[in-house]
Amino acid sequence: MSAIDLANRALVLRKGGDEGECVCYWMSREQRCEDNQALTFASEIADRLGLPVLVFFALAPKFIGAARRHYDFMLDGLTEVERELTGKGMGFRLLVGEPEKTVPDLISEVNPAALVTDFDPLRAKQAWKERAIREIDVTVYEVDAHNIVPCRFASNKREWGAATLRRKINALFPSYLRRPPPIKMPKATWKEAQPVDWKKARSSVQAEDLGDLITWIEPGGKAAKKRLKAFLTHGLSGYPERRNDPTREGQSDLSPYLHFGQISALRVAWEVTRSEAPETSKKAFLEELVVRRELSDNFCLHVPDYDSVSGFPEWSKVTLDQHRYDERDYIYTAREFEEARTHDRLWNAAQREMVSRGKMHGYMRMYWAKKILEWSETPEEAMRTAIMLNDRYELDGRDPNGYTGIAWSIGGVHDRAWPSRKVFGKVRFMSYGGAKSKFDVESYIERWS
Ligand SMILES: Cc1cc2nc3c(=O)[nH]c(=O)nc-3n(C[C@H](O)[C@H](O)[C@H](O)COP(=O)(O)OP(=O)(O)OC[C@H]3O[C@@H](n4cnc5c(N)ncnc54)[C@H](O)[C@@H]3O)c2cc1C
Repeated sequence: MSAIDLANRALVLRKGGDEGECVCYWMSREQRCEDNQALTFASEIADRLGLPVLVFFALAPKFIGAARRHYDFMLDGLTEVERELTGKGMGFRLLVGEPEKTVPDLISEVNPAALVTDFDPLRAKQAWKERAIREIDVTVYEVDAHNIVPCRFASNKREWGAATLRRKINALFPSYLRRPPPIKMPKATWKEAQPVDWKKARSSVQAEDLGDLITWIEPGGKAAKKRLKAFLTHGLSGYPERRNDPTREGQSDLSPYLHFGQISALRVAWEVTRSEAPETSKKAFLEELVVRRELSDNFCLHVPDYDSVSGFPEWSKVTLDQHRYDERDYIYTAREFEEARTHDRLWNAAQREMVSRGKMHGYMRMYWAKKILEWSETPEEAMRTAIMLNDRYELDGRDPNGYTGIAWSIGGVHDRAWPSRKVFGKVRFMSYGGAKSKFDVESYIERWS
């Protein structure tokens, strides 16, 4: 009997042959060994069949505007993964090239009895998977190792707000909040070790070097656990009061690790609930980590145009259209935004924080995106600019949280209608004055000047 609940977390993507010489796990979004239900699932099948496990990662030379900083963070983490897997008797391969080609080639080379992959609602990843598995004759499973309550199980439709998903998640959360099981080592070990040439892999990547070297955060699963421990000791208790103040270190800084799957959200939630922090702090943090984060996966899974105006709710499309020709006080091009050349020192500071640190504070992300709407010619252009900048500079970019956060800010996704005003219509507005009443704006500007 599997420790993973097959009916709820795993999905058969394709039924095919089930005889072979190993079990493959196509590691994609969940780049870790520990607390990875997809890897556990693969190793359980392998154990049952008496076969070894081969894990592979398909490294595409380009991926939705990812820059060198993203590839470096990811490849450093994967180096650690290779070491851990080989220490457990499993194989690891890095496939360099277009996944549509490299994955079927590997499958015909190693002849697996099953192929397991992880869940990702983003279009590019789903397209890779679809094209890669079209040609192969093996049973393919998709395991959701990202969401605590599996995304497809929590809800089978687009949720219109946090309230509706919260109700569903809260009903299921207690049964999913379990200590993640340790990985079962398959009895058969992978014999044909092929150490990865990481230097060669790095040089195969066609990514832009953005100049700023990011040194404040260390990549990898071990560093992620250290960060979590520090947050549990020093940050969690004060989270509700400090998290919305960009001049204080009140957030967990876990998003780059969660984005690259270097830490599991279930592990984070498990440690948070067991900690001695006040219940109000745990609740506030779990609202973000569980409800808001899993709402983003729900949005991207059920709304394929999650990154454009057509994905906005009807009321917001109507209101933004009614205000399409309102005169803007300022209009900036994508380049002017990128170079932090607006009239607003606070906005420029947020942009600089993102460019040089690779992570803008959460409160400022809302202000930043809403001002892009206010100072762009059209909502469509605002979406394009915000997504381009977010994906290019944020270490946690190209994530459902990013597309959803931007759609929330610019298009009222998961929000309600507010009193109407210029440009925004009924989409919620944020002002410099509002920010000033919440935190020491001057000190933030000075820090990122
Ligand atoms: C315009 C805009 C753009 C955003 N872009 C991204 C992005 O590219 N990648 C990204 O991961 N998040 C994004 N967010 C969501 C949020 O701002 C970040 O997840 C958070 O600031 C990351 O910092 P942290 O890990 O220190 O957060 P913490 O406050 O410590 O929260 C812990 C975790 O909870 C989750 N979380 C927190 N806030 C949100 C939220 N509003 N929505 C969904 N999940 C949340 C994240 O997984 C986060 O790592 C964006 C939000 C907005 C408004």
